[in-house]
Amino acid sequence: MRVYGAAPAAPDGLAAVRRGFTCRCPRCGGGRLFGRFLKVEHACSACGQEFHHHRADDFPPYIVMFIVGHLLGYGIYVTEMKLEGLPLAVHALLWPSLAIVLCLALLQPVKGAVVGLQYALGMHGFGRPPADAAVQSRAGDEGERRAR
Ligand SMILES: [Zn+2]
Repeated sequence: MRVYGAAPAAPDGLAAVRRGFTCRCPRCGGGRLFGRFLKVEHACSACGQEFHHHRADDFPPYIVMFIVGHLLGYGIYVTEMKLEGLPLAVHALLWPSLAIVLCLALLQPVKGAVVGLQYALGMHGFGRPPADAAVQSRAGDEGERRAR
């Protein structure tokens, strides 16, 4: 069993998203968020925050497609307007290659940002710390007993 120190103060939402984008724990910013390319760690190695219940699902790829699509669309438009006569073979090699590179480069940080956003909003099991919940639960139980 691993014992962790005192829980760090909860970061604000933007800090949690930023920490996720840099692939660090959204809670403490110290531990790694990913074990492999897109495989989120079970829990933070620094503060013990559990990540296994995150539900990023298909949202990160949608965000990446949105960003890359707009960047490439603008790039293709500008290239066609400024560099008329560029051979079709250059377009056929440049844009698909750039799309693959950008998607691979953005997918992990965007997924980290989505997990950080879920943490900041308390979604999908990223609720308040269990100690607070236990205190509130006990207080609620005592209130019920007094009412009887
Ligand atoms: Zn952590």
